[in-house]
Amino acid sequence: MLIFDIHSDIFTDVNHRRLRGESRVFNQYHQDRLSRGGINGGIFVLWVDPPYDRDPVRRLEEILLNTEKEILEFQDTAHIVKHFDDIQWALDNHVMPIILGLEGMSGLGTDIQGIYRFYDLGLRHASLTWNEANAFATGVGSNEKRGLTPLGQEMIHQMETLGILLDVSHLNEKSFWDVIRVAQKPVIASHSNARALCDVPRNLTDDQIRAIAQSGGLVGVNAYHEFIDGNPEWRHLDRYVDHIEHIISLVGMDHVALGFDFIDYLQEETRQSFSRTRNRSTQGLEDASKAYDVIGKLQARGYRDTDIQKITHLNIFRVLKSVIL
Ligand SMILES: [Zn+2]
Repeated sequence: MLIFDIHSDIFTDVNHRRLRGESRVFNQYHQDRLSRGGINGGIFVLWVDPPYDRDPVRRLEEILLNTEKEILEFQDTAHIVKHFDDIQWALDNHVMPIILGLEGMSGLGTDIQGIYRFYDLGLRHASLTWNEANAFATGVGSNEKRGLTPLGQEMIHQMETLGILLDVSHLNEKSFWDVIRVAQKPVIASHSNARALCDVPRNLTDDQIRAIAQSGGLVGVNAYHEFIDGNPEWRHLDRYVDHIEHIISLVGMDHVALGFDFIDYLQEETRQSFSRTRNRSTQGLEDASKAYDVIGKLQARGYRDTDIQKITHLNIFRVLKSVIL
């Protein structure tokens, strides 16, 4: 069974290692772990990582240059998807299909045209913010009264015209509902869980989950321990699957996916910038090599393989087909 991880920060590790003079980072450090976990492809984002977000434009430029070099080096093992049909082409040719994404647009400054450069490289997914407020919208870490800006609204139209999938994870609630009013194509929350089970700002209310489903989009369930449960004892694989089941109970089988957000390879200073708990992870889902265990849990709870395939890849393929060209 295919697994498409709809949120991966592997390019953050690529950038760190390349800045230290390494090369072929994906092949050396990630390919094997992904294949042990049964992950066949995913959305890999460019993300301005703290503490380097003090000068986001400069940092994103650096990330972009290092990503371009890395992409040239992994061509025989992975393929940047530019058209929907490229996914099947890559799978048939035993290379990993990767959707290039952008997590937050702080690195674009106020330049709405800036996204064209990324589009040419293959960008087919983007979110307007990480946790910050920027020229386009407002993230969960910022002013709750500030939402989507006029420039952000223009950006959404531009993305929909180009065929770039819009991601609402990390938006504050005001921005979220502004986006829902403006967006005409399906939107996804690539790595957010249900607030009904774990009440943190990064997770989604039931109404938000319903609105995403109504757009035709989906929610990717996040393995990050702090979004799984408020009680550290409950941060385990079973509880992860509870989030999947909660979303199914609200909106059915067609609007849920896997957006693992594994962070085991992030730099310690980056992790500490957004997490107070150190060296903790979700039991049974510590890193990408454990991804396949989600399938076993779903089978044990009585889900048929045809439904499990929707969660692991068919739902996101449907959404991508309707948005990217
Ligand atoms: Zn994120």
